[in-house]
Amino acid sequence: MPIYEYRCGKCEHVSSVFVRSAHAEVKARCEHCGSTRMKRLMSRVARTKTDQDVLDELGVPGAGGRPEDAYKDPRQIGRWVEKRFEDYGMDVPEETRQMIDAARDGELPDPIKDL
Ligand SMILES: [Zn+2]
Repeated sequence: MPIYEYRCGKCEHVSSVFVRSAHAEVKARCEHCGSTRMKRLMSRVARTKTDQDVLDELGVPGAGGRPEDAYKDPRQIGRWVEKRFEDYGMDVPEETRQMIDAARDGELPDPIKDL
């Protein structure tokens, strides 16, 4: 459970507030004077989230397996194409299949060659 620290805008004392979840709205109240003029301080509590959690929350596409990284691994080339065909319950067309296989062998399609 995260703990946030708030500094009272009235008496300057710091209060710790337990928060049910990171997304919950917090109604902080000064432990010393009861004021609700509380200003949140940067938490000194150890991070409870991993980078992956944060990326997931931000909705970063392909977090944990970024597309640009996929191309550094030849085995990943064409994976999304295969996946797309799988999703539609179709077989990968022979022509596409060969292109993917060739790319995985290091023969990346090079349109300049055809000019
Ligand atoms: Zn106060």
